[in-house]
Amino acid sequence: MTTVSSIAGHVNSANKLLEINNLNVEYYAANGTVHALTDVSITLERGQILGVAGESGSGKSTLAYAITRLLRPPAVITGGQILYYPQHNSSLLGNTAVHKNSRAKNASSPGSELVDASPQAMDILQLTPTQLRSFRWSELSIVFQSAMNALNPVLDIGTQIIDVLHTHRPTLSKDARHTRAIELLRLVGIAPDRIHSYPHELSGGMRQRAIIAIALALSPELIILDEPTTALDVVVQREILAKIIGLRNEFGFSVIFITHDLSLLLEMADKVAIMYAGRVVEMATCAELHHQPRHPYSYGLLNSFPTLHGPRRRMTGIPGFPPDLRAVPSGCAFHPRCPCAFDACNEHLPRLLPSTSETPEQVVACHLYDPRFNTEEPPSNADFAAKYEANYEAIQGRRNLR
Ligand code: SF4
Repeated sequence: MTTVSSIAGHVNSANKLLEINNLNVEYYAANGTVHALTDVSITLERGQILGVAGESGSGKSTLAYAITRLLRPPAVITGGQILYYPQHNSSLLGNTAVHKNSRAKNASSPGSELVDASPQAMDILQLTPTQLRSFRWSELSIVFQSAMNALNPVLDIGTQIIDVLHTHRPTLSKDARHTRAIELLRLVGIAPDRIHSYPHELSGGMRQRAIIAIALALSPELIILDEPTTALDVVVQREILAKIIGLRNEFGFSVIFITHDLSLLLEMADKVAIMYAGRVVEMATCAELHHQPRHPYSYGLLNSFPTLHGPRRRMTGIPGFPPDLRAVPSGCAFHPRCPCAFDACNEHLPRLLPSTSETPEQVVACHLYDPRFNTEEPPSNADFAAKYEANYEAIQGRRNLR
């Protein structure tokens, strides 16, 4: 029997930190229901950096907000689990420990009917407001896209770090809080004498570092970074990434790094999930994805950014636009834009399957790898390049490309 864990990547269960099973999120809008996340299953190990990539509107940020339970109406989580495996038995567990010695049936995804849940797992979606308050910052923190908007403009950065410590570690003395704030600023590469600086007195890179310092304040197990370097120039972007990797290596926390820039993830992540129209369409290690992306969309994303090294190559990009999530195309949602689409693609929903027997952990939702629909050799990079080249103009010229 295929389990979600085996589909979502082979994970050493003792080392498992987060397990998202068949997660669905919808936004109820007056002009239609937006299917923001559909049947998303991802597993993350301790100390691992998971990259999540996709175009705007693919569901990346909704995923981050769902994990942190920061979604607000009209967003509604309509199904699934987000299981968290604390390092030590946590007082948070209480009634939220799920399915002790049992298997939870979840039939919303074909081929992923059963979920193993260890006795220690807690479902983040079941936490009470009080439990959630303890859970955030201590176990999980998030760094938002825009540091300028995330920081309070009328408080200096030292006060904002100390606020977190004061709220979540009330027994810490005033001196200890101040010392910890200095220590955190040093960790992220901000000189301690900037502790009384206001956000507007810091550069974009320093503001983002200050946010990372706040995220690290209580030494969480998991940090979610939602496009943390998007607004920064490439030099500062690189400095921030190097800092994040260094801190991860030093403290061993896990990271979910969300970006539309797949080439960035290939340099820093351990594995990458590619999202399209609210679904995971490919999951692989960076080496696998770099060597041979399996999904035509992954190939298109990878070739939408120039590389800093290697030979010059023609950029193709992906024709068309991401779909309107109120009316997702039938079958494979990518079919109106896919240069490799064939008859089955607009009728049948692809399943996440191992792409080849040599790379069982590289899973892909594409009929090209499903023996029910294709018995020929899966395409190579050269095949993808030729298909994009040959079909780009024709696809771009189509009506109803969404
Ligand atoms: Fe393209 Fe079909 Fe694969 Fe979808 S299932 S990515 S349309 S080939």
